[in-house]
Amino acid sequence: MKLQDIEKKFPPFDKSAGEAAYLLSTKKFVRYVETPTPEQLIPTLVWAVKPGPRVDDYEYPPYIHYSCGKCGMATMSSGPNAAAQLVRHCGIVETVPEHIAEKFREMRGKYWERSKKKQPPQPGSNKAVDARLDQLVADSLGYKPREVLIAELQAHAASVKRS
Ligand SMILES: [Zn+2]
Repeated sequence: MKLQDIEKKFPPFDKSAGEAAYLLSTKKFVRYVETPTPEQLIPTLVWAVKPGPRVDDYEYPPYIHYSCGKCGMATMSSGPNAAAQLVRHCGIVETVPEHIAEKFREMRGKYWERSKKKQPPQPGSNKAVDARLDQLVADSLGYKPREVLIAELQAHAASVKRS
């Protein structure tokens, strides 16, 4: 138990329950209850600017990642307006801190410089890259892979010829 002398001449100190009961009975000490600091009461987001993931030869744009240890909210956003967004959580609305916004703009600028010099892989230049790009599109949009579409078209063409 944490105690402090009534006159507050000394900082609070810890005592076992037995010793604390005795000291409290002397009426020269009171139980010390810690009050949370304003910083502990305010929910705070943890912000980070991260480079976009690389898939094969292609690099995605950088993004802002943010998470809150209090409500568990964790998400990310990218795009030209990512630094201007409002984030709602814990019953409050937060704006992107200026140093994070600045770092994001800087990383985004460098990303566009790089991507101007380096074109994303062109379909048809590399079979493995083609297959991977097809797979990514199929996964994200629910499209059928190219081979499946071709097989379906060929089957359809064959059935038309037969009839
Ligand atoms: Zn929160």
